[in-house]
Amino acid sequence: MSEEYNIVIVGAGPAGLAAATTASKYTNKILIVDENIKPGGQLSKQTHKFFGSKNHYASVRGVNICNILLDGLSKEKVCFRPETSAIGFYKPDTLIIQDKEGLHKIKGNKFIFATGAIENMVSFENNDLPGVYGAGAMQTLMNLYGVKPAEKVLMLGAGNIGLIVSYQLMQAGVEIMGVVEASPFIGGYHVHAAKLRRMGVPILTSHTVKGVYGDGKVEKAIIHKLGGGFEPLHGTEKTIEIDTLCLAVGLTPSVELLHQAGCNIKFIKELSGYVSVHDDMMETNIPGVFVAGDASGVEEASAAMLEGNMAGLKAAYDIEGFNRSVFLNEKEIVEFELKSLRTGPFCERAQAGKKRLMVEER
Ligand SMILES: Cc1cc2nc3c(=O)[nH]c(=O)nc-3n(C[C@H](O)[C@H](O)[C@H](O)COP(=O)(O)OP(=O)(O)OC[C@H]3O[C@@H](n4cnc5c(N)ncnc54)[C@H](O)[C@@H]3O)c2cc1C
Repeated sequence: MSEEYNIVIVGAGPAGLAAATTASKYTNKILIVDENIKPGGQLSKQTHKFFGSKNHYASVRGVNICNILLDGLSKEKVCFRPETSAIGFYKPDTLIIQDKEGLHKIKGNKFIFATGAIENMVSFENNDLPGVYGAGAMQTLMNLYGVKPAEKVLMLGAGNIGLIVSYQLMQAGVEIMGVVEASPFIGGYHVHAAKLRRMGVPILTSHTVKGVYGDGKVEKAIIHKLGGGFEPLHGTEKTIEIDTLCLAVGLTPSVELLHQAGCNIKFIKELSGYVSVHDDMMETNIPGVFVAGDASGVEEASAAMLEGNMAGLKAAYDIEGFNRSVFLNEKEIVEFELKSLRTGPFCERAQAGKKRLMVEER
């Protein structure tokens, strides 16, 4: 026997939780599944105060944003199933999930995929040696499981994630031997870079990692300078003793389920990889199947929440057909906020990517 819901949401990060919050204003029988123990997605390990829009919790710590979103959810209308992975979607209405008890068939009227993004890898010598971690994995170990994950770390990537995770590692008592960045510029906010520099951490732009070396585990890294065309400058090699190389080199949207479901997938460089084509209300080319958040193009939590609001609104409207002016009014507010968010100087890339992706007619 399969269970039946009005709306099934995969992923309980900011996008999934925001989708449930908006949808539950207008409909009930909403299910959220997430493979993690706790809801919150990336938010549940972000101990720092968020940047982003004022209307969307700027200066509030990620973990607290997560608690605010959870407090706002109606327990009568929204059911959350942790430690549950969605492993297949069969159109028009069937999701297969897996939990400790096994496989289950879930029937839904609408589906929202808010599956987030996965960390990128880089190719360099011995990149499979134990001691090479993604920054997200380090954060999970530190901030969710209370484990000090390393002693001496070299960070690759000076975007916000690399800078923030370096600082959090220092707070956990880990020595940061440096941050290495291939681009000539620091990609993250300078406030985060300045914090590290004040603590004596060198940030080496136009540098990259040649390889990591050691007997069965990382014991040292060799870095070198890059020229204007990103070519290695021979003779600039430097050895750094470390036990961990941490990679913060970007994220790729998680679109596997959408792809398997038959959604149109396009490579949009500005959105960080392959994404599912969707309209301005986040509906894909398969009617009733929505995408929201980093899964629809890597941006940040404020955009993820707004996209979740939009998907939740449209999914609920299509089910309940409530007052059209209420629907249009709420749609306009979310559209306005998304537009203002994306006109900021750091969001031009995402804005351009979304423009390329939108489909006028499906
Ligand atoms: C170190 C770091 C710092 C950041 N700082 C900021 C900041 O200051 N300000 C800001 O606005 N943004 C920040 N961000 C970005 C922000 O966290 C993300 O943009 C946001 O979390 C994306 O939300 P999401 O809901 O799309 O995805 P996620 O938060 O990644 O949530 C996706 C969820 O889906 C679940 N999931 C995926 N696939 C499945 C499946 N098949 N079955 C079940 N569950 C599944 C995952 O377990 C996860 O819980 C930061 C990110 C990082 C990594």
